[in-house]
Amino acid sequence: LILRRFFWQTLVTFLILVIALSSSLYALLQTSLDLRLSFLLSTLVALGVGTYLAVRVSRPIERLRQRLEKVAAGELYEVVDLSKNETIEIFEIARSTDQIAAQLRHRIDVIQRQSDEQEAVLGSMDEGLFAVDRQQIITLFNPAAAKLFRVQRQSVVGRPLPEVVRVPELIALVQSAFGTTHTIEEDIEMLGDSSRYLRLHLGPLRNRSGESYGVVVVVSDVTRIRELEGMRKNFVANVSHELRTPLTSIQGFAETLLNPAVTEPTEVRRFLEIIQRHANRLGRIIEDILSLSRIEKDAELAQIEKKSESLNDMLSTAVELCEVKAQKKNISLSLKVAADLRVVCDRYLIEQAIVNLIDNAIRYSDPGKTIFLRASRSGATVNVEVEDQGVGIPQKHLSRIFERFYRVDRARSRELGGTGLGLAIVKHIVQAHGGTISVESFLGQGTKFSISLPQATS
Ligand code: ADP
Repeated sequence: LILRRFFWQTLVTFLILVIALSSSLYALLQTSLDLRLSFLLSTLVALGVGTYLAVRVSRPIERLRQRLEKVAAGELYEVVDLSKNETIEIFEIARSTDQIAAQLRHRIDVIQRQSDEQEAVLGSMDEGLFAVDRQQIITLFNPAAAKLFRVQRQSVVGRPLPEVVRVPELIALVQSAFGTTHTIEEDIEMLGDSSRYLRLHLGPLRNRSGESYGVVVVVSDVTRIRELEGMRKNFVANVSHELRTPLTSIQGFAETLLNPAVTEPTEVRRFLEIIQRHANRLGRIIEDILSLSRIEKDAELAQIEKKSESLNDMLSTAVELCEVKAQKKNISLSLKVAADLRVVCDRYLIEQAIVNLIDNAIRYSDPGKTIFLRASRSGATVNVEVEDQGVGIPQKHLSRIFERFYRVDRARSRELGGTGLGLAIVKHIVQAHGGTISVESFLGQGTKFSISLPQATS
């Protein structure tokens, strides 16, 4: 339309020029001075009119061209500025251009929003997520993935995966995921300062026509889960073993008692006492297991009810509870507490922890010795010490004695009525109160357990 219009306007200009020139030429032929002047004048008028018409048509077209250039360059917020007396066609084109720009603006806004949302989702995920194309070039890498693979996120997109993650097993899995239609799940071991286990879910990325153009991988660190799983299996095996020993004895002696040949009252009584001892042992183990799992569960669910308690009162109660046992073994208990120490705690749990430590100290000390209990303040924490003059613990065992069922001398512990769970219970109680426990020991000289707990502010 514009070209047609332009054509007509140019044609009119040309005709005017031709008429002007021909009239001028005719006049020139007359060779009179006046007529020559009139020739010059007509030529100038024709040129002026032609130029005016050309400029009038080309100026808005030039503005439109500039506007389209800006749209192409992404400047979508301007509108074409036209004067009122533009032709209708120019207005139509300008309006269409503005509509195209508005549509582009809308689409770009939608894409931007989707990209922001995707970035927010990827950024808030605990799992690592990355994607690669068919050439294994990384197209996406979320912050969690960068953390798991210990790389700088900014520098990985656009680089080949084998260059960024040097784990041959992972590269091979990604390669095999291109050819599948389902998700692959696999655990891999990452060797490093400490080995870690990563669980991978790999799935192919497909376009609408079903062609795979990449692979997406979701990664989670399952090291802790594996450790816990290992601990659980270990614990179940240990519990079974610990329960089986007294149970086998009970079954054996009960069978013996059922034998009609066993009639001697002293013998019967001896067997019954053995059964009772093993039954008590079974009871203690079960009680300790239940107690441990209750503390763990309550700590996990933050269900331990804590309030400000006097440490002096708790230590005195613990001493009272152990007094009879200590006296039986001629062991004295010495208690020294700096006045006014308070901790926010479940007092029964803290008393249980201290009783367990005193109980061990009595069990592993010879008669005539003393057990020292001290409590003092150190900054924002209070320290409780239980020190004995007993057999001591060899250094190589010190790091393991808080594990469930770990004993330095299994037979001795059993003989002394230990369950192997006492220190594990103490450790869990202390941790559930935000505290720490440590041990120092010298073989043949004695052992000192120290508990630190946050001090109550009131
Ligand atoms: P147990 O019921 O066998 O005493 P614990 O968990 O209470 O189990 O303690 C684990 C191991 O730590 C004990 O078997 C013992 O070898 C050692 N132990 C604990 N307390 C003392 C102590 N005060 N003196 C010497 N050894 C100790």
